Amino acid sequence: MSQAPETAAEVAASAGEEPVTRPTATGESDESGVGSDQICVDLPDLKGMLPQELQELAIELGERAYRGRQLYSWIHERGVDELSAMTDLPASFRRQLASSSRVSRLVQTERRESAEGTAVKFVFHIPGAGHVEAVLISDGDRRTACLSSQVGCPLECQFCATGRMGFLRNLTAAQIVDQFLALCRYASARGERVTNVVMMGMGEPLLNYDNLVQALRIMRVETGPSIGGRRMTVSTAGYVPGIRRLAADDLNVGLAISLNATTDELRSQLMPINRKYPIAELLAAAEEFFSRRGRRVTYEYVLMAGVTDTDEDARRLADLTRDGVCKINLIPYNELAPVAEGGSPGSRFRRPSDERINQFREIVALRSPHTVTLRLSRGRDIDAACGQLYREVHRKRKDVTTD
Ligand code: SAH
Repeated sequence: MSQAPETAAEVAASAGEEPVTRPTATGESDESGVGSDQICVDLPDLKGMLPQELQELAIELGERAYRGRQLYSWIHERGVDELSAMTDLPASFRRQLASSSRVSRLVQTERRESAEGTAVKFVFHIPGAGHVEAVLISDGDRRTACLSSQVGCPLECQFCATGRMGFLRNLTAAQIVDQFLALCRYASARGERVTNVVMMGMGEPLLNYDNLVQALRIMRVETGPSIGGRRMTVSTAGYVPGIRRLAADDLNVGLAISLNATTDELRSQLMPINRKYPIAELLAAAEEFFSRRGRRVTYEYVLMAGVTDTDEDARRLADLTRDGVCKINLIPYNELAPVAEGGSPGSRFRRPSDERINQFREIVALRSPHTVTLRLSRGRDIDAACGQLYREVHRKRKDVTTD
């Protein structure tokens, strides 16, 4: 049952939307992955390789397999990206690596800490495509790294800030892992460890499947950053072929589905992907995921005042999910700040009152056999909460000067 994976732009197009692609710095279309300020892009990136792959590379270059392990350890355990600093590797091996591969590192351009100290937002520059964000969220003993999978997103969910950016580019496996490594360095400087990974930053992870899975495998390696599959969650807006592929894969990660509406009519308005993969198909794919992977799915449901928060919605939410093996996570809407440059207005959606949120939760909890949780968003003051990740895209400069 191998369905050819679609590209992000194709999915957006078939959902009834024009694919949104913006020019990159070079003015070329974004999917090549090549930007003007990206050099050596064709050389394999050692940061995006599994220990096994690094061992094979070492053997190919005439070295013993354990040299590959050492490489992995330098990059992922010791956080060293300079081949010249990997002093226990033979100089000839390092020279060969330097001419035939690269070790990428994301440039961090900003870091903001929330007032309560429970969220830290990191901004990284992606050559030729703008920026992505990652957030480190603290909750008791848990330190969750919320990572991005794409620059922008093609799915255009109406309530989501990232959806306004359009789709710029898929991140490479190394770029996904590198966000994680940066958050790990920050945590370890504070004597803490990252304990969980959620793919809930910018982008639709299942539309960047191969890079996503490679990154999850790298982050899972026991001796490396060591986040077991049980502590990793992929969140999807409902890209059904991706859910089915993940169900068939041997990677034991959790799955969260952003349901967000209880009728196809409303869901198709809010999340255009529903036009191609309506609720019934989505629920069936979720069941397949549970039956093949044995992990219950989490349904995320964003509460928007007067849009998704009525008593009827609460009852329908409980009924729709009744037969599944799942959890329900309610997320009060995080309002979007107007984006000054480009004139994007603040969102037309509003967060319901606390009273309404609690009433909604009670109705669902009384009617549903499943666990119902309410997510208290962290980092709202630094625009780091769910759906608030937005960056001005990297456009072609109009004022080209000669210097
Ligand atoms: N594309 C993936 C992951 C990114 S969004 C997905 O859709 O699941 C992560 C979560 O944030 C999703 O559940 C999404 O519905 C939610 N979200 C988006 N905008 C939001 C907002 N402004 N307030 C609260 N949650 C939001």
